[in-house]
Amino acid sequence: MKLDVRTIMLMLSGINLLGAGMMALISFHADNIRGARQWALGHCCMCLGIFTSTQMSPEWPVWIISAVPFVMGCGIGFIYNGIEAFQGKRCHYWVTAWLGVQMMLQSLWLGMLRDDIRMLVIANSLLFTLVFGACAVRLMVKAAQPLKTAYNLAAASFSFIALMSLLRALNMLSKPAEGVTLFAQGDINPVFLVLGGLSQLSISLSLVLLITFRLVSDLREQATHDSLTGALNRRSFEDESRRLLARAIRTGDAMSVIMIDVDFFKRINDMHGHQAGDEVLRRLAVLLQAVIRSEDCLARYGGEEFCILLAGINEQGAALLAERVRLLYADLRVPWKGDSLQCTLSAGVADSLLVGTDLSTLVDAADQALYRAKNAGRNCIALHSDPI
Ligand code: GH3
Ligand code: MG
Ligand code: MG
Repeated sequence: MKLDVRTIMLMLSGINLLGAGMMALISFHADNIRGARQWALGHCCMCLGIFTSTQMSPEWPVWIISAVPFVMGCGIGFIYNGIEAFQGKRCHYWVTAWLGVQMMLQSLWLGMLRDDIRMLVIANSLLFTLVFGACAVRLMVKAAQPLKTAYNLAAASFSFIALMSLLRALNMLSKPAEGVTLFAQGDINPVFLVLGGLSQLSISLSLVLLITFRLVSDLREQATHDSLTGALNRRSFEDESRRLLARAIRTGDAMSVIMIDVDFFKRINDMHGHQAGDEVLRRLAVLLQAVIRSEDCLARYGGEEFCILLAGINEQGAALLAERVRLLYADLRVPWKGDSLQCTLSAGVADSLLVGTDLSTLVDAADQALYRAKNAGRNCIALHSDPI
């Protein structure tokens, strides 16, 4: 099979142009997702660099000849920066500047001064291995599905292109220096370039997938969680609770509900403003998340009311937890504009052994107990089974 290197390079440049266009569109329409702008810029530089290098002639002015590898180096740097930005980290643009300068110096020194194309290809390939390898490592992170799939695909694509670049460098090392040109056909060189091009395409697609799945995850989070406290919203709490209750029916385990309401919360709003009230709610949610287990459900049930569904715990166990929360919250001081806000809470507890496994009946029972705790003077816990 005869493969023409220049044609392959033109295809590579086209793939990068498509990638740049897609990323530019994404960054235009989904400007809340970070990283797309750097990826658009990276693809654009790669496209420009690869295309110009296929057209380059020794008669061109030196500044253009040296600008081409500079642009290429910056291109791979921006791809790396995009990953940093996507992960919410600070972008190290000095890496991009260094890559540009490094590639330019390599080209000037090895390509023009020493006329050693073999060493130039080796140096460039090793640099690509380093950067793409670093991209792959950065993408090997823990994430929930569906983002995990996109992360794995992107990491695999970057690893593959890093491996191809390394093999290209090793292959060049084993060759005599004479007769090596940038567009030499050779036996294996075009194969590396084709495989590299395919992994470039795979990189572009997996970056688009990363952005898409991030949007999906964000939307899912917004649809299921309360934006102020991060607790489940009422609808997803009901869905999640039904799943837990169905399991409790199967296993015969007890399930408990704790209804929590902040005492005299309106006073906080009236005295310190709504934002202070928001902060008090946020801190309560953090406290509650810290004391419950991962299999339990926490929801913001109303304004300053939270509901917890505890798996495998009866009323007595839930009451102990509620009492712990009450004490912790009473001790909590929320710093606010030089003041220190302090609140208490009341809670009502009910379990499925006494009330049954119907969610609304359980919540009602816990709510009635909460009402009794409020009537008893607040800052206390009441159980559904308490004698009235
Ligand atoms: P009690 O001890 O009887 O529970 O008294 P309370 O003042 O806590 O209860 P009340 O129901 O009178 O007031 C609840 C207040 O919570 C009224 C409402 O303005 C406020 N609220 C509801 N949602 C939010 C919110 O998201 N942020 C803030 N800051 N306030 C909220
Ligand atoms: Mg209240
Ligand atoms: Mg209330």
